[in-house]
Amino acid sequence: MMKRVLWAFLAVLLALSSGCNSQPRDERMQVVVSIQPLAWFAGRIAGSRAVVQVMVPPGGNPHTYEPLPRQMTMLGNASLFLKAGSGVEFELDWMPRFLKLNPSLRVCDASEGVRLLEMGGEAQDGRRDHNDNHRMDPHFWLDPSNGIMIADTVARCMAEGDPEHAREYLANAEALKTELRELDASIRKTLAPLHGGSFLVFHPAWGYYAHAYGLRQIAAESGGKELTPRQMQQVIDQARNEGIRVVFVSPEFSSAQASTIASGIGGLTRSVDPLALDYPGNLRLATEAFRDALR
Ligand SMILES: [Zn+2]
Repeated sequence: MMKRVLWAFLAVLLALSSGCNSQPRDERMQVVVSIQPLAWFAGRIAGSRAVVQVMVPPGGNPHTYEPLPRQMTMLGNASLFLKAGSGVEFELDWMPRFLKLNPSLRVCDASEGVRLLEMGGEAQDGRRDHNDNHRMDPHFWLDPSNGIMIADTVARCMAEGDPEHAREYLANAEALKTELRELDASIRKTLAPLHGGSFLVFHPAWGYYAHAYGLRQIAAESGGKELTPRQMQQVIDQARNEGIRVVFVSPEFSSAQASTIASGIGGLTRSVDPLALDYPGNLRLATEAFRDALR
């Protein structure tokens, strides 16, 4: 009996102390996303109802990134994790550990319902290292029609986690989808005269984009490895044959080899970012860059 009273007393004490001493609890949804473009979707759909944090920082490479200790702490407090779900190495390596750390973390798969394409980065001579065989291309978000599907998925995940504000999330998603349809139409219009054209990228991130707009992506690198001198020469030869003068590079990949290819073709490198936070603005910039290189 005495023991029970003591426990009750302790419980009251605990409740009181947590009520008075702790900082005001942040009632907003704590959302963690793996890559920056997903933060744009999460932020737009949640509005002021969520705090969105990104795992792979600007310039970080999601194919090799490892989280920092403070990011692991942040995960412990998160309620929703938005992953790309398309085979990004960072997620494949770390998701099991994230869930072990925070078993109540809900995971939302941004690629749900999206038709993934096979890695189109096979090189000129059909070279394809065995790791790459039948590997799906993870960069699906770079096609705005897939962006529309991401918007629906994120809104549904947020509505499930916070049903009280479900209508708000769904309405935000509708507004965002309208914006993305306009974006898609404007890119389509810009690139229509260049239909069938080829562009050369160092890292093969733009396969979905090329597929959506009738362009052809030629990739120098595949599987994240340095090219051998022979492969470098093959890329240079093919680019020369196709009259290509621009090598597209992304900020998260070393551009030393890309520069060598560029000088080999008497051309230049230009940066397009597959991971920028400003999703529509970045796709517009990339479209200008591809248009300039193709015309
Ligand atoms: Zn990539």
